[in-house]
Amino acid sequence: MPGRVPDIEGVVLKTDIPLADFTTFRIGGTAALWLEPTDIPGLEKALAILHSNFPAFRILGNGSNLLVDDRGVDAVLSLNGLTDLGFGNGMLEAGAGVRLSRLITFCHSHDLGGLEPLCGIPASVGGAVKMNAGANGLNFLDFVESVLIVTPNGSQWFKCVDMESGYRDGGIPKGAVVAGCRIRVAEEDAAYLSGRALYRVRRKRSQEILKRVMAQRILSQPLGQPSAGCIFRNPENDSAGRLIDQAGLKGRRAGSAEISMKHANFIVNLGGASFYNVMELIDCARERVKAMFGICLEPEVTIWKEASA
Ligand SMILES: Cc1cc2nc3c(=O)[nH]c(=O)nc-3n(C[C@H](O)[C@H](O)[C@H](O)COP(=O)(O)OP(=O)(O)OC[C@H]3O[C@@H](n4cnc5c(N)ncnc54)[C@H](O)[C@@H]3O)c2cc1C
Repeated sequence: MPGRVPDIEGVVLKTDIPLADFTTFRIGGTAALWLEPTDIPGLEKALAILHSNFPAFRILGNGSNLLVDDRGVDAVLSLNGLTDLGFGNGMLEAGAGVRLSRLITFCHSHDLGGLEPLCGIPASVGGAVKMNAGANGLNFLDFVESVLIVTPNGSQWFKCVDMESGYRDGGIPKGAVVAGCRIRVAEEDAAYLSGRALYRVRRKRSQEILKRVMAQRILSQPLGQPSAGCIFRNPENDSAGRLIDQAGLKGRRAGSAEISMKHANFIVNLGGASFYNVMELIDCARERVKAMFGICLEPEVTIWKEASA
């Protein structure tokens, strides 16, 4: 039963929200408390409440890299209400809740290229910063000049050069909230060569790249089935998908979860899969790959276990 919660300006407050509806895996119990700020002062207020009452709160973007416990979690801070997008300070500024797809469409409509190789990643800007989402040899943070981090005590812009980012890791400290970012826009075509700023592009050319990238995704990933993308990080100089495939695990099932026949590093929800079904497959893949190849696979997916920090 939804409980009564006081209104706070700039924050949408709800109770008992089913998290399965907010993850691409379509798995997970409820969030007892849900806070969704609609602006930065609201985010600061929400953080003050959470830090005092629910220090183990979870941060939610578009839920495309999440496996949530069927028993649910206490408190969730959703960044999906921060959706501002536009030019400012000579850069493109995007709120944490802006979808990468909207960002890429916006760039396309302003004849700005560069982000096309990332199209099809179902991230929010905040999640793409946190995970340093990437594809086709490019990472989102390659384009980002600075990131807005918010704490209950205020907001501060941090330059990306000062952050230690890497493969699927934006270098954002645990518990820190990304509220938005600034993306470089090149003055001249020269920046095209570095690939680290948005650059002027002919719309037709950009369209061709988008089409090619999406066609490749459709070919190689089980996009019609709920999943959280790649379950494991790729080991150095190898591919987790190749190892799981070689271990003979494609098509392996636990309840209604399956190691995808199309891409062995994806686990898909065939309908009604539980957290534990997916965990069983994760453990199975890790054990089998370790036994056969001596390689320890590390999860890329973020796992929200009930009562864990
Ligand atoms: C079909 C499919 C294909 C995918 N393909 C790719 C791919 O090609 N490349 C790739 O890198 N990933 C891919 N992914 C995984 C996923 O889209 C990325 O990891 C993405 O960056 C997650 O963003 P999100 O907004 O969904 O974050 P969420 O899943 O909501 O959260 C992921 C993590 O980031 C944290 N987080 C989210 N927002 C914030 C914020 N504002 N501040 C601080 N922390 C935050 C969460 O607490 C959590 O730890 C794919 C996923 C799917 C389902």
